[in-house]
Formats: sequence, structure tokens, C-alpha cells
Amino acid sequence: MAEHYKPVKYKAWELNLEERFQEYHPPLSEREAVLEANRCLYCHDAPCMVACPTHIDIPTFIKKISTGNVKGSAKTILEANLLGATCSRVCPVEELCEGACVMKHDHKPIMIGRLQRYAMDYAAEKNIKFFQAGKANGYKVAVIGSGPAGLSCAGELAKLGFDVTCFEKKEMAGGLSTYGIVVFREPVEVSLAEVKRIEDLGVKVKTGVNVGVDIKFEDLIEQYDAVFIGMGMGNVPDLSIPGEDIPGVLDGLDFIEETKVKKLADIKAGSRVCVIGAGNTGIDCATIARRLGSERVTIVYRRSEAEMTAYHFEYQFALGEGVSFMFLTQPVEVVGNGKVEGLKCIRMDLGAPDKSGRRVPEPVKGSEFVMPCDMVIKAIGQKKHKNVVDALAKFGVKSENGYVLVDSETCRSAHPKIFAGGDCIRNKGEASTVAAVQDGKIAAAAIYKQLVGATSPNEKHIEPVLSPVK
Ligand SMILES: Cc1cc2nc3c(=O)[nH]c(=O)nc-3n(C[C@H](O)[C@H](O)[C@H](O)COP(=O)(O)OP(=O)(O)OC[C@H]3O[C@@H](n4cnc5c(N)ncnc54)[C@H](O)[C@@H]3O)c2cc1C
Ligand code: SF4
Repeated sequence: MAEHYKPVKYKAWELNLEERFQEYHPPLSEREAVLEANRCLYCHDAPCMVACPTHIDIPTFIKKISTGNVKGSAKTILEANLLGATCSRVCPVEELCEGACVMKHDHKPIMIGRLQRYAMDYAAEKNIKFFQAGKANGYKVAVIGSGPAGLSCAGELAKLGFDVTCFEKKEMAGGLSTYGIVVFREPVEVSLAEVKRIEDLGVKVKTGVNVGVDIKFEDLIEQYDAVFIGMGMGNVPDLSIPGEDIPGVLDGLDFIEETKVKKLADIKAGSRVCVIGAGNTGIDCATIARRLGSERVTIVYRRSEAEMTAYHFEYQFALGEGVSFMFLTQPVEVVGNGKVEGLKCIRMDLGAPDKSGRRVPEPVKGSEFVMPCDMVIKAIGQKKHKNVVDALAKFGVKSENGYVLVDSETCRSAHPKIFAGGDCIRNKGEASTVAAVQDGKIAAAAIYKQLVGATSPNEKHIEPVLSPVK
């Protein structure tokens, strides 16, 4: 039977630099995939399908692998999720599809993520094109941002016959899948191949265009029949502590991005690194630093292990990579003269719970200490696009805490032409790639219904509600 999510047997530091940044999970061989697929019970009303936010027909795609129809399997996946290759690598499957697998109780859950990757890799290797642009319906849609939300929305709309242009401010498309997901979980090529799949449907992806700076929002609203906002979130916010501007204090997302776009040998990591924050970004930065050769990497977190937002498997992974954790520790100053020499911290205690139910950390008087280090990486979440949200407010788009407010059934904002999805709307709940993909799908269906006038192309066509923008 195929190995089940066992950590790879090597110790990262025994490998050379390039090898340390290869994909962590090796692909399943054909034999392993067929054996694993044959374990599936093909449940009626399969709970895994309900647990997958994009509701992929998991039993069917697995059945197709077991019968050797890998092409058909890939088509089943892509029908529900155009970013199936990325999701197969990054989805927190323990919390989603595999967490719901009935085999979990007596045996091990079916390796849904890795089987999905097997089918997606097969389709990519063979360069199989499953879908084509739908018959042109005369409507134009602008998509802001080419991350999972934007690409999913753009691809689904193109399949329905819309003329779609996607504007992306970065040099490469793909959003965090290209720039932010650590390379040993998702190589850049996988993300770019997915972008190409969307372009093959006729979507025009214009990179290097910052909407709001290079093009005005009002022009998009005027020139297009609908606008989808999939702008994600910004960089890491400031710590607002003294010494933050000393060279050697890095933004965690910039640090991860370097490993995705630069030669690994050209990236410098300190020998003693402090990472501030214990979420996904903190774990990724810490494991990257270890794999780049840092001798000591410590994650500093002001709350306790129970409150950290990283998944349990990520925590275990980081521990296995030799990362240390300092809980109940709050950084108060970066110490150094022209370069980082240490991180001054204070011990914390947990007080009464706040409104969210999490106990509030409180400083312990007189407990300051300096942890020697030569690099500090900030990984305390992502900034909101407050300027964009403010700019959209004048068109009537409402927001809450810096997130765009939309109707959850349509992803439509308070402006009838403007839709949004992905991280920029996720005020509550877990922000994830697969959730962003589903938002894109929901918005595409709602745009179709609003403009063309039916809920799906198979339904009886009724007259358009709005006329196309000339
Ligand atoms: C370090 C890190 C690790 C993560 N790991 C995982 C994981 O393992 N599994 C998982 O499911 N999720 C993970 N996530 C979360 C996941 O990456 C996001 O939920 C997902 O990428 C959201 O997709 P999105 O399309 O909303 O936004 P993004 O992927 O952020 O894409 C938004 C795009 O919009 C562009 N943009 C922004 N403003 C403008 C503008 N004005 N004009 C033009 N373009 C613009 C941006 O450049 C970007 O390309 C991780 C996130 C981070 C930060
Ligand atoms: S998209 Fe993600 S959650 Fe859905 S079946 Fe695939 S791996 Fe599981």
C-alpha cells in the first residue's frame, strides 16, 4: 500500500540546497495510485464531497483512477475546480475532504489530495485540453487579481462565453500560488501551468497592471458589464516596535517570494533567525530558513500553543525541521546597530478571554530579555487593501474591517456590477485556496445569471437582464 503522508525519510540538512526545495511529497506511482484508489468505498452521498468547498465528485474521480481512466479522472476534478493541481498540493486535506473520509475511523483516510495530484500531473504532462471557450455571448468582464479567486472566476466565465480580461499588478500571474506558497509544497511551474490553462480558454491576463493606479476603477466599471475583485490581501503589517527598520528585519512574504523567484544560492538567511508569528506564514518562513541553512530558528508567539493559527500538521512539520517555538513571548524591540543583533522580548501570561473566546496575553512585569539573533522575519498576517476598499466605497461598495462585503450566495457587493471573492472578502473563517476557487465559481455563476439571464447554460434561456456595454 502507498505510504500515507509519512514524512519523507531523509533529513533535510543531509540534502543539497536544490534537493531541499524539491516537492516534499513525491508523486504517487501508477501502482500506488491504483492500489490507493481501490481502497475507496465509493460512498453514496460521500461526506468527502460535502467537505470539499468546491464539491469535486471525489468518488467518481477516484473510481476512474482505479479503472485506468486517468484522463477522465482529471476532467471530473477540473469540472468542479479549475485549480485542481494547486489544490491537490495545498489544501489542508486533514480538515477538509480526508478529514471527512469514513475510512478515517478504522483505517487511514483515502489519500484524496495525492490522488488528485496524480490525475492533475497526468493531464499536465500530456497537455490535455478539456474545455474550450463558450460561444461568445457579447458580455465583457474585468477581473482584478490573478490569484485562485480571480483565475477561477475568469476561467468559469470564459467557459460560459464571456470576454474576460484579468488585470494583475505583479510580473507573473497566479497570486499567492505563484509567489506565496512555499516552493516545496507548490513549485512555481505548477501555478503558471494553471494560469496557462485559463489563458487557453481565451482569458486575457494582463500582468504589471495595478488597478487603481494604472487603470481607474471607474473606467473598469464603465467599460465592462461586470467586475470581479480577487485582490487578496497585502504584505505583512508593521510590528510598530523600535528597531523595525534595521537591515535584517524582513517581511515574511517577501522572504518566501525570494525562494520562488530567485536562485536559492543567492538568498541569504541568518544563522540565528527569529520568526514573529505562528500562523501559516510563520511556519513557512521558519522551515524555509532551516532549509536554507540557518542554524537556529525560533518562532516567537505571544499566545500559547493552543491559540496558534497554524494547523497541527504544520506545527509538527516545523518541529520535525528543527524549528523551536517560544510561546507566551512578545517582541518589544529589535536590537542592533546597523544590523540585527537581537530581539528584545517580554514574557506574557494569558488573562481573561476576549470577545472571540481567546484568552488575552498580558505582559509579565520585569520579564524582558534579549534573544540574540541576526535576522528577524515578520509573519503576523497580511495587511488589508484599505486604500482600495476606501476607493470602492464611493461606488457604494460596502466593507467591514477592511474586507469587501458581499452576499454569500452570489459574491455580489452592494454595487450591482461589482463582485468579489477570495481572501479580500474572508473577514470570518479560514482563508484558503480552495475557498477562493469556490468564490470565483459562485461569482461566475451569479454574473451569468445576472447578465445572460439563466442559472446555467443548460437551463432554458431567457432574455438578458442587462445589455452589453458597447
Ligand atoms: C504564506 C502563505 C501560505 C499559505 N499556505 C496555504 C496553504 O498551504 N493552503 C491553502 O489552502 N492556503 C494557503 N494560504 C492562503 C491562500 O494562499 C490564499 O487563501 C489564496 O491565495 C487566496 O486567493 P486570492 O485569489 O483571494 O488572493 P491572492 O492569491 O492573494 O491573489 C490576489 C492577486 O491580486 C493581485 N492584486 C492585488 N491588488 C491588485 C490591484 N490593485 N490590481 C491588480 N492586481 C492586484 C495580487 O498581486 C495577487 O496576484 C497561504 C497564504 C500565505 C500568505
Ligand atoms: S480540492 Fe482540496 S478539499 Fe477538495 S477534494 Fe481536492 S484536495 Fe480535497
